[in-house]
Amino acid sequence: MDNNRKKHYATLAQTVIKGLQSRNMNGCYAQNAEEALKIALEMIPEGSTVTMGGGMSVREIGLFDALQSDKYNFIDRDKIEDKRAAMLAAYDADIYLASVNGMTSDGVLVNIDGNANRVSAIAQGPKKVIFIVGMNKVTPDLDSAMKRARNVAAPINCQRIGTNTPCVKVGRCMDCKSPDTICCQFLITRFSRHAGRINVILVGEELGF
Ligand code: SF4
Repeated sequence: MDNNRKKHYATLAQTVIKGLQSRNMNGCYAQNAEEALKIALEMIPEGSTVTMGGGMSVREIGLFDALQSDKYNFIDRDKIEDKRAAMLAAYDADIYLASVNGMTSDGVLVNIDGNANRVSAIAQGPKKVIFIVGMNKVTPDLDSAMKRARNVAAPINCQRIGTNTPCVKVGRCMDCKSPDTICCQFLITRFSRHAGRINVILVGEELGF
């Protein structure tokens, strides 16, 4: 990556971290995926019950693979047939891993969900939530974070899943009411009542969608 972009990401990350702190949430900055993995593992005590929602970024930094170790009780929802049981187990997890669909430079997190298992677990349930967020997801304000979530993250996710939605055909959100839509519930996290629950690892690389 170009040095000027690296420097810009590191500077912007400090602004985001201050914004998070003002909202009773924690933030830290990793220069790259390798550093992010190290920081994330330091936040997850051995023996923890861990699960995740979506999370391309979690996989991209190698965290998903690292958690397959016997040191952790990792709940892999894709391997559990009873999806309701997997969802309920996630609410009781020690650690929930996720990314965001957009994030403001003053620390507000934006997430969109189809089934709402991810946004509901972020909102309440797991004792600690760790977000892995590539700096490509940081936008100036809430309006631009919502636009990013709807016009970048959601259409690419629809393409990945193979939904029959107009965004897959035109490459931007058409505000559909298709039965296949993944844009059912919107979560804006602007403050945490619980100190230490929400933790954001910002990464100076492009991660996820
Ligand atoms: S509302 Fe519909 S068209 Fe817009 S991003 Fe979501 S699924 Fe795609």
